[in-house]
Amino acid sequence: MKRKEYSKAYYLANKETIRKKSKIYRDAHKEEHKVRRKKYYKANKAKMNAYGREYYSKNSKKVCEQNRNTYLKREFGITNEQYNEMLVFQNYVCAICCQPETATLKGAIKRLAVDHCHETNKIRGLLCQGCNQAIGYARDNTEILTRMIDYLKGL
Ligand SMILES: [Zn+2]
Repeated sequence: MKRKEYSKAYYLANKETIRKKSKIYRDAHKEEHKVRRKKYYKANKAKMNAYGREYYSKNSKKVCEQNRNTYLKREFGITNEQYNEMLVFQNYVCAICCQPETATLKGAIKRLAVDHCHETNKIRGLLCQGCNQAIGYARDNTEILTRMIDYLKGL
């Protein structure tokens, strides 16, 4: 086995251990790494940007999916797969008005928004922009929402 093949085989066989050790090392040397990365980027800006553009043009779908995953993980602690499961569970419509999203972003229909409780961070469901904003304007307050219903009914 050639050295490169051996390295790859070793990595695949010990992936979890290597990743754990790398994370511990990275966490312990965060600032140094940040400085080194910045310095490297500054010195190789054109090369790195060209590589990035080429990589994106060949892998745009993969990159978009990764970005989406990163966003969902960071903001709500879920994966794209979990989002899609919720979407199927809700039959692709808003959990409140039972309609598909109609709001657009750059000419394309937006995805349903992930709605979560700001106190517990628990995800409640996927909402269209209108419903998401409506409960936001009502400050997630059920008393205000109840009074809104009473008001609309003329009570
Ligand atoms: Zn809705």
